[in-house]
Amino acid sequence: MSNLKKLNQIYEGKAKKVFATDSSDFYIVEYKDDATAFNGLKHGTIEGKGVINNKMSNLMFAMLEKNGVKTHFVEQLSDRETVVKAVKIVPLEIIIRNVAAGSFSKRYGVEEGTALKCPTLEFSLKNDALNDPLINDSHIIALGVATEKELEDIKNLAYKVNDVLKEFFAGIGVKLIDFKIEAGRLPDGEIILADEISPDTCRFWDAKTNEKLDKDRFRRDLGGVEEAYQEIFKRINSK
Ligand code: UDP
Repeated sequence: MSNLKKLNQIYEGKAKKVFATDSSDFYIVEYKDDATAFNGLKHGTIEGKGVINNKMSNLMFAMLEKNGVKTHFVEQLSDRETVVKAVKIVPLEIIIRNVAAGSFSKRYGVEEGTALKCPTLEFSLKNDALNDPLINDSHIIALGVATEKELEDIKNLAYKVNDVLKEFFAGIGVKLIDFKIEAGRLPDGEIILADEISPDTCRFWDAKTNEKLDKDRFRRDLGGVEEAYQEIFKRINSK
C-alpha cells in the first residue's frame, strides 16, 4: 500500500483533503488542523488536531473491524495521511445519541446531560447550502438518497458502532454522549463505515467530572481545546 502514488486532490472538506491514487480502489486522506463550527460560520485552527484525528480514527476503525464492522480504513501512511478504500459517500450525517446535548437539547428543550432511555438515531442531509436539514426515512428513500435496504444497513451499522464505542470509552473513563458517522458505498454496492471518528465528530465527557473532551470546547470557546484532544488520545493509547 505504501507504494501507492498520491495523485490529484479530488475533494477538500472542512477538516480533510482527499487525493486520488494510481489505483482506482484507494484514496489517500490528509487530515488538517482547520476547525469550523456552525456550518462554517466559525473558523479556527486546533494545533495538532489533524495528527490526533488521523491516528485516533485509525485506531477506532481497526477496533471496529475487529468487532465485525467493515470500514474504509486500509493503512496509515504518516502522521496526517491514511490510505482508505475508495467509496461513494452516502450524503447523510448519521447521528446516534446516548445523552441529550447540542442541537437535540435545543430542539426538544431537554437539559444537556439528560440520559436517554435508549440510543436515538437521526439523519441530516449533507448539504451545506441548505444547512444540513434533518431528514427522515421516507424522505431519504423518496429522494433516492439511499434505498430501503441501504438504510437498513446504515442503521444496523450505526447501532453496532455505538455499542462498540460506548463500551470502549467507558473502559477509559469517558462517556460517549453522541457522535456522527458517514457511510460509503463500495463499487459492489456494499455499505461500509467511512469518514472519521474523532473529537471533531463525537461528544466525549469525562465519566467522573463531565468535563468536555471534544470539539465543543472550540465551538463554545471553553479554552483548553488542544489539551482536550490530547487527553482523549492519551487515554485511548493507555488501553
Ligand atoms: N456532528 C458532526 N458534524 C456536524 C454536526 C454534528 O460531527 O456537521 C456531531 C457532533 O460533534 C456531535 C453529534 O454529531 O457529536 C451531534 O451533534 P448535534 O446535532 O448536537 O449538533 P451541534 O450541537 O454540534 O450543532
